[in-house]
Amino acid sequence: MALRRRLSALVLTAVALVGVQLASAGVAQAAVRVLYYDASQSQEFVAVVRQGAANWNSRVTNVRLEPVPAGRTPNIRVYADNGWPRTYTTSLGNGYWYMGRQAVNQGYYQPRISTHEFGHILGLPDRRTGLCADLMSGSSAPVSCTNAFPNSTEAATVNNRFRSLTSVPAQQFVWQPTA
Ligand SMILES: [Zn+2]
Repeated sequence: MALRRRLSALVLTAVALVGVQLASAGVAQAAVRVLYYDASQSQEFVAVVRQGAANWNSRVTNVRLEPVPAGRTPNIRVYADNGWPRTYTTSLGNGYWYMGRQAVNQGYYQPRISTHEFGHILGLPDRRTGLCADLMSGSSAPVSCTNAFPNSTEAATVNNRFRSLTSVPAQQFVWQPTA
């Protein structure tokens, strides 16, 4: 009797575990979020904006950046002006950013700028480590830095944010901090 009870408890546990695995697989699929970006106002930088999105798409699985289809409201708008590159987020995955010519004219690698600014939209803050291997080190890495991809830690952080849909406050980030 006691054995049978233990056996049925084991079966129940096994069934529960399978249930949990199925449920988490369902959650993981549902968590792949598509964010639409509008590059139509980024002037001469449309191709480099697309490249920044593609760089993220090649490194993360829980979120995708796609060009906005006609008639749909974009999550992200991209502009261009003569100031510093900068991003204004409203919430995780939503906001707008500028491809600023001030950094382009100083010689910063354009795909690194665009991938970096998308990184803010994806929930990453600036981390001015000075390292070229860090995408979010931004302008603290040398101007000669041509790394335009998130490192594995940065990619994992973005995947985690979109898995759990962490809320992020509205924020502003500027490529070059004013002293
Ligand atoms: Zn930044």
